[in-house]
Amino acid sequence: MTTLPIFPGTVDETGRPATLGVMGGGQLGRMFVHAAQRLGYFTAVLDPDAHSPAGRVSHHHVKTAYTDVQGLSQLAGLCDAITTEFENVPASALQALAVARPVAPGAAAVAIAQDRIQEKSHFMASAGGADVRCAPYAVIETLAQLQAVPDDLLPGILKTARMGYDGKGQLRVKNAAELAAAWAELDQTACVLEKMLPLSAECSVIVARSWQGDIVSFPPQLNLHVDGILAVTEVYEGNMPVALAARAQAAAKSIANHIGYVGVLCVEFFVVDDGSADGGLVVNEMAPRPHNSGHYTLDACDVSQFDLQVHAMAGLPLPTPRQHSPAIMLNLLGDVWFDATGQARTPDWQAVLALPGAHLHLYGKLDARPGRKMGHLTLTGADVAGVKATARQAAAILGLPGFESDE
Ligand code: ATP
Ligand code: MG
Repeated sequence: MTTLPIFPGTVDETGRPATLGVMGGGQLGRMFVHAAQRLGYFTAVLDPDAHSPAGRVSHHHVKTAYTDVQGLSQLAGLCDAITTEFENVPASALQALAVARPVAPGAAAVAIAQDRIQEKSHFMASAGGADVRCAPYAVIETLAQLQAVPDDLLPGILKTARMGYDGKGQLRVKNAAELAAAWAELDQTACVLEKMLPLSAECSVIVARSWQGDIVSFPPQLNLHVDGILAVTEVYEGNMPVALAARAQAAAKSIANHIGYVGVLCVEFFVVDDGSADGGLVVNEMAPRPHNSGHYTLDACDVSQFDLQVHAMAGLPLPTPRQHSPAIMLNLLGDVWFDATGQARTPDWQAVLALPGAHLHLYGKLDARPGRKMGHLTLTGADVAGVKATARQAAAILGLPGFESDE
């Protein structure tokens, strides 16, 4: 078993350089690989896709299924420690890797995040002194549970317990008849029904926690979703009420501490219009990995969420991150590669890259499809008004929907 910390630039007794591995080769894996390599680590990615964004830039790419025994053993042999970039990595694979190498986050934490039913129980249990509440909900695994759903949970959103992302596996229902039809449409799989809440905003908090239990956090991100997919993240002083931001940070830390989490964790919240001055805070879900809403940290903070992922898994110290610039991140979905008539086009990068404080990140995906996350654009600047102005310009150039800043 590896001893921590793992320092970059070192070699083991066999001459193998210090290497960090990641399960999954998407854009989060790619940005992890970039951060690890910048520090001097070698990297290895396990992803069956020969063209995966992270596989293309890593020193090693193991191209097998996530549960392939030989692939997992090859990854463990290449690496000193292993992390994950997506929550649906089979827990059994992480368990198998953990026999040989430090794995952060661990299989147990990832298993909780994979299942909305377990996740909600965890949120309730980890409240502690922090203000953590879930949306009122009911578990629906049987016909009897479906029939016993109380009226006051309707209208609601029926969500599959497992494998949902970007609004997939969710159906909005107004009444008991629609609920029954929706459950049938979801093949009567295990679900939760959540009461539809009046949201005044959505936010998320990213924390990083070490093997020793040290924990640091980024400031809360204010997130705007369009069609169930993150569209815009805004992070600057005043993006949300100070007391609410502090409660969200305390809740995220409490959720991570409760399971002895190691690595980067993102907790997503709803701000509910409940008549109180700041609004009520409701925890929605957690992602056991860096998160789309934290991409601005690459350009607006002195350490990024990916740097902290590297530090946490390798047993390096966790510095408190400092945001040095106000930031607005615009997600770039494949839709941007098509004009209003559906004709393929190259986005006007010339105009985008001429904007001050524009940081373009494309993930190396060559095949643009509507809804596919192709990249993101972060706007930074000296002051919030300036950043909002350039973000509006960028959104107009790219024809992005949903970005309506208040000024
Ligand atoms: P992700 O990509 O974040 O994992 P997801 O598919 O897991 O998405 P959720 O985060 O549960 O889905 O929901 C997607 C969006 O739907 C939320 O960001 C929010 O805008 C809306 N939503 C979900 N649940 C509720 C609710 N109980 N009341 C009101 N709106 C909701
Ligand atoms: Mg979500």
